[in-house]
Amino acid sequence: MKAVRIHEYGGPEVLRYEDIPDPRPRKDQVLVRVKACALNHLDIWVRMGTTKSPLPHIPGSDVAGEIVEVGEYVTGFQSGQRVLLAPMTFCNHCAACTDGRQNQCAEYSVLGNRTDGGDCELIAVPAVNVIPIPDSFGFNEAASVPLVFLTAWHMLIGRAALRPGHVVLILGANSGVGIAAVQVAKLFNATVIATAGDERKMQRARELGADHIINHYQQKISDEVRRITSKQGVDIVFEHVGKSTWGESLKALKPAGTLVTCGATTGPDVGIDLRFVYSRQLSILGSYMGTMGELHEVLKHVFSGKLKPVVDRAFPLKDARAAHEYMEKSQMFGKIVLNP
Ligand SMILES: [Zn+2]
Repeated sequence: MKAVRIHEYGGPEVLRYEDIPDPRPRKDQVLVRVKACALNHLDIWVRMGTTKSPLPHIPGSDVAGEIVEVGEYVTGFQSGQRVLLAPMTFCNHCAACTDGRQNQCAEYSVLGNRTDGGDCELIAVPAVNVIPIPDSFGFNEAASVPLVFLTAWHMLIGRAALRPGHVVLILGANSGVGIAAVQVAKLFNATVIATAGDERKMQRARELGADHIINHYQQKISDEVRRITSKQGVDIVFEHVGKSTWGESLKALKPAGTLVTCGATTGPDVGIDLRFVYSRQLSILGSYMGTMGELHEVLKHVFSGKLKPVVDRAFPLKDARAAHEYMEKSQMFGKIVLNP
């Protein structure tokens, strides 16, 4: 099959489009023909070696496609079925996994991080990862869902316990995870204050349902939040940006507010004044991906049309390098998808 692999870490030039042997499914696995694989910021970390993925390596976490072969021990699936893949790997037999807390499993990882991912024509995965999609749902749309909607759902619902009436600040509403978060927060009738970096992205965030938009390059986030909330602050801050916004994020919280974070795109080292945290009784929560139960739950809302994936642009798989370069310029609004 054709696959995009890295043999060394580095810039987009290390992505090689090459022929490799087809994967063979184990008896407990399903072989899927990849129709679409969406990019995430993780693909850049993987390519650069930040995650120390084993080499040579196929990146790609968000896969949609068609079943071509079902392992002997697998029931309930047939070839030709249209599916998406849960974007994570886990042991499926430890105490955490069997309790439905797969993202606390010692072996938990993102698909395409420690194991080969979906930037290729065929991928073999355990049956537990395989989820059917409706016939009406396009492959590019399906591939744009799993990682970001699962992450946003676990952060807002699983971790920060979002409730109707909450006011939520969502940073980087133009990012994949931000687009998902705005929609999840609106599904729960929260008031959403979103940030974006230019007029076009601000307009797109408004169309997704954000009630207020802050230009995070031209306006001071905490000042705008104070103005919008009549000096109250927000109940929840949805963080994934890290160093460049952390101080403003903490200042935007109301007393006893909750900051939940899943990333540090601009850098992981943030200064925290502990006096500010304890005197204002703030909660700072970490969040990593989510559980299988949460993925099935969020997909119900996606398949019923209440949550909508946003596809920015599709590239042929052989142009993975151009797709990475495009993502690094941060001009997109929505997901970038590769088509084998
Ligand atoms: Zn486990």
